[in-house]
Amino acid sequence: MTLLPTAPDPVTDTDIGRAALPRTRLWVPRHVQVTRSASELPHGQRIIARCEAAGIDDIEVLSGDRLTGLRGGDERETYARAKATLAVVVSPPSKRRLVPIPPSADWRLDLAEGCPAHCQYCYLAGSLGGPPVTRVFANLPEILAGMDGYVGAGAVTSGTDERGHEGTTFEASCYTDPLGIEHLTGSLSEAISHIGTHSFAGPVQLRATTKFAGVGPLLDLPHGGRTRIRVSVNSAAVSRRFEGGTDRVAARLHALGSLARAGYPVGLTIAPIMPLDDWRAEYGALLDAAAAELAGVPDLDLTAECITHRFTPGSKQVLESWYPRTRLEMDPDERTRKHGRYGSVKYVYPVAVMREMRAWFDDALAERLPAARTLYWT
Ligand code: SF4
Repeated sequence: MTLLPTAPDPVTDTDIGRAALPRTRLWVPRHVQVTRSASELPHGQRIIARCEAAGIDDIEVLSGDRLTGLRGGDERETYARAKATLAVVVSPPSKRRLVPIPPSADWRLDLAEGCPAHCQYCYLAGSLGGPPVTRVFANLPEILAGMDGYVGAGAVTSGTDERGHEGTTFEASCYTDPLGIEHLTGSLSEAISHIGTHSFAGPVQLRATTKFAGVGPLLDLPHGGRTRIRVSVNSAAVSRRFEGGTDRVAARLHALGSLARAGYPVGLTIAPIMPLDDWRAEYGALLDAAAAELAGVPDLDLTAECITHRFTPGSKQVLESWYPRTRLEMDPDERTRKHGRYGSVKYVYPVAVMREMRAWFDDALAERLPAARTLYWT
């Protein structure tokens, strides 16, 4: 039984250029909409060319800058249509004013918004309004040039002991999975190359996390050690039940090893952690598999970020409309209610459960991946 809605799962196995790399899923959207302004920019034109090369027939250059026809007759139809659509747009000035994003990084740097995968706990539900279309920004040079003004300015996380040497950090995965759309955009490669070669006023780090494995195009980029790529991983039970349209965890871990061997700082984003089934054995197997992929990497620079499952009233409502038959537990009575900034509410695991999981992960990471610096547990 599939829990995915009727959206297509347009998966194309492909050779990604290196025999040692696993075959990966490459998303092929059914529809591509390009706003007039985006179509006039070189990066927008390159994205159109990539979409044509991927064999997409329905590429529409709009006469204006407003996307059209994204809504269906009901929530599920809207979801299906939006998830099958790539929109190429220009990010507005408001989006180019960067905002702090602790604990992940000092600043959020959006290369795109939205994601073609179908995770039933998706972090984007309730964060991004409207139909979940994947929007990629065509004014990439402008976005990257804007980073200069933030280097050293009001850093939030880089003052911590674990992060100080990394300089000002920019997170590219807050609202998208940049690797999941890289074959159509090239944006992540361009960002990595820019940050690896540009002369900044101080040390910088680009950060990206992914549930995809198509890292072939990244391996030979002039990254300069300034981009840390983490793979988002989970136990077999969580991944099998709730992560649709992503690459398998084993492929993600193999990609992580390839990146580390290409000199990238790397990381594990273990998220969202859930105490399902035999969770200690399953997370233990996950950490063992990561250790095996990273064995023998010279000068390994490895971090770990641990994020437990949580939801908000808004994300629960959106996720239940997208995945009405989900088995994901989102019962407020089973959780502890916490208040965030600006009066927002989120539901997390009770204190005793959190304490038990945290103690287990602290020990397991120290034992199985002693090279890993844990950046945060939340
Ligand atoms: Fe959401 Fe991340 Fe899954 Fe994409 S890969 S659907 S952004 S949780």
